[in-house]
Amino acid sequence: MSHPRVEAVAGEARAAIEGAASSAELEAIRVRYLGRSGGLTQILKSLGALSPEERPQVGAAANEAKRELEALLDARLLATRAAERRRQRESERPDLTLPGRRPARGVVHPLTRVQDEIVRIFAGLGFSVAEGPEIETDAYNFEALNIPRDHPARDMQDTFYLSPETLLRTHTSPVQIRAMRAQKPPVRIICPGTVYRRDVADITHSPMFHQVEGLAVDRGITMADLKGTLTLFAQEMYGPRSKIRFRPSFFPFTEPSAEVDVLCFLCSGTGCRACTQSGWLEILGSGMVHPQVLKNVGYDPEQVTGWAFGMGIERIAMLKYGVDDIRLFFENDLRFLRQFA
Ligand SMILES: [Zn+2]
Repeated sequence: MSHPRVEAVAGEARAAIEGAASSAELEAIRVRYLGRSGGLTQILKSLGALSPEERPQVGAAANEAKRELEALLDARLLATRAAERRRQRESERPDLTLPGRRPARGVVHPLTRVQDEIVRIFAGLGFSVAEGPEIETDAYNFEALNIPRDHPARDMQDTFYLSPETLLRTHTSPVQIRAMRAQKPPVRIICPGTVYRRDVADITHSPMFHQVEGLAVDRGITMADLKGTLTLFAQEMYGPRSKIRFRPSFFPFTEPSAEVDVLCFLCSGTGCRACTQSGWLEILGSGMVHPQVLKNVGYDPEQVTGWAFGMGIERIAMLKYGVDDIRLFFENDLRFLRQFA
């Protein structure tokens, strides 16, 4: 049941659908023939102007053609869209034969590496890590540590003062004071951190450097415990045959005090340039916590005793890696840092 007027439009539409190459073209054809002002819609809209005999014939033919074209369009769209998606997937498919890109991998800074190693050893001995502020008060940095007003360490030449009462800490020792004031004995802490001194930078000095502080306070702690702990540390850090020796020294916050040397791990004690032919390397300062320091934090020196030590991370890293200028650690020259990969 067709009609020549309808067939003229429908035939044209069928041919267009047949020849369409993309879903976009098909959508355009739908608008052109079936849209609000499309060819077939126009015929349906003008039925009222036809004679009563012609009206039902044209109407039926136009409705049938509309259904047929819609079905045809839908089927073609489905197939075209599937083909388009397939082509897109093809074009976006990664080429698995291309060589991969390696992600850039950073390197742990040598100072961090040495610090981590020291902390790991003491953590294994039951020490926990304690931290404190880099901006300290004069009271914590000096006074509580038994460093009197006239001590040379308080010289304006050595300390960065921010105000008469605040300064950049010159050592990690104030962390001891903070830890002891915050808890009762027993105390076993290791305090790594950044410290500051008014030194002019040269091959062995830097106005900013790093220390690790250790502190143990309990009933009956002796210098033998200190020596035993540091011997274990040296053997872990420098090998099982490592030895240490104590040399008498002076620090205001320990009594007695000792400089600690480790058998030169570069020449095994036979003498070399690094140990200036002595066979020993000075690596840290230590001693029994001064009774006045224990009193300053509210401990009773008749009941508890303790020891403390402090070492410079840069010095240990320089010896370990054969670095002859401390400034290399802070220049962030990738040629230097990459050597620690
Ligand atoms: Zn040596």
